Amino acid sequence: MDTTEHGQVRGPAATVDVDRSDPEYRAWLKEAVRKVQADANRSADTHLLRFPLPEEWGIDLYLKDESTHPTGSLKHRLARSLFLYGLCNGWIRPGKPVIEASSGSTAVSEAYFAKLIGVPFIAVMPRTTSPEKCRLIEFHGGQCHFVDDSRTMYEQSAALAAETGGHYMDQFTYAERATDWRGNNNIAESIYQQLRLERYPEPAWIVATAGTGGTSATIARYVHYLQHDTRICVPDPENSCFFDGWTHHDPHATSDCGSRIEGIGRPRMEPSFVPGAIDRMMKVPDAASVAAVRALERAIGRKAGGSTGTGLWSAFKLIAEMVEQGEKGSVVTLLCDPGDRYLDKYYSDSWLEEQGLDIAPYAAAVDDFLSTGTWPC
Ligand SMILES: *Cc1c(COP(=O)(O)O)cnc(C)c1O
Repeated sequence: MDTTEHGQVRGPAATVDVDRSDPEYRAWLKEAVRKVQADANRSADTHLLRFPLPEEWGIDLYLKDESTHPTGSLKHRLARSLFLYGLCNGWIRPGKPVIEASSGSTAVSEAYFAKLIGVPFIAVMPRTTSPEKCRLIEFHGGQCHFVDDSRTMYEQSAALAAETGGHYMDQFTYAERATDWRGNNNIAESIYQQLRLERYPEPAWIVATAGTGGTSATIARYVHYLQHDTRICVPDPENSCFFDGWTHHDPHATSDCGSRIEGIGRPRMEPSFVPGAIDRMMKVPDAASVAAVRALERAIGRKAGGSTGTGLWSAFKLIAEMVEQGEKGSVVTLLCDPGDRYLDKYYSDSWLEEQGLDIAPYAAAVDDFLSTGTWPC
């Protein structure tokens, strides 16, 4: 990535191979922006679901169900924002591929938008990505390019962009700035709108897991901008460096291997992760994430991805603290993507065994919490 001497990202706009004032290019650009905006205009807001808790606690738990977007995850919002940002910056050009480093969900959504505006799409992703996500990327007309070491995803994406004259979207850098965090029906504004008629319309906590960090940055900035008292908690899975980097104020923190919880947990402190905006982080064992997401199905009849379990586990822990302190209020966490993408992972006992994950003690802890309100550790 090309940077100025001030460390500012110059972006790929330096490669001028299209005349920006060419009427044909401008007509293409207008049409591409219109198509992306029209997709948003055709879409309804995602639901805020209630997770049932014992009435006497005086605490309400909600899940913002991001699985109902046209491409099935919260990455639909991100992909829309990144396409608009890339188009309006003149970075995405007719006939040139869009390339992304992605563990899957972003690539699924970006493949959809690339097809919508008629440009090729290539996803650079870890070989361990679930086959269902690869199938979805190809379904939307995208290509999958696999790497063995997930840490090389970024450089391989940049190299592929240079080779093809395409645009490396770079979600991990641009997620936080491509999103309109002050409002414009972003995920935070939508949550507050949907809580308006609830008994605790201002949540005590909003829980958001971090992959790019974009969602937690958007929510945290919005909360501060509108002067809410809500606190933001970001739970982090095993094999991710975000928790250590946040705890020790270390922007160079790294981890050695990839996260098992798809969509979240990163081996480096991503530029889009904004630690200063966050109130609290928690480390969540992967087995706890799986136990929590399975409890979700028993409670509301819905399967979700592993990251939803990570967030839910953290929300349970925050609620146990509220119960202990006699605090009433509401807590919001996210249902990030649907569980049918992971039937051979988080919903497969043989996968758990292969990974050496024993969810039994965590499942017992969740059951105990849901009946007593107390946290076992
Ligand atoms: C990307 C992703 C997240 C985290 O969102 P970010 O805005 O990238 O931090 C959580 N869950 C899933 C399934 C994801 O794909």
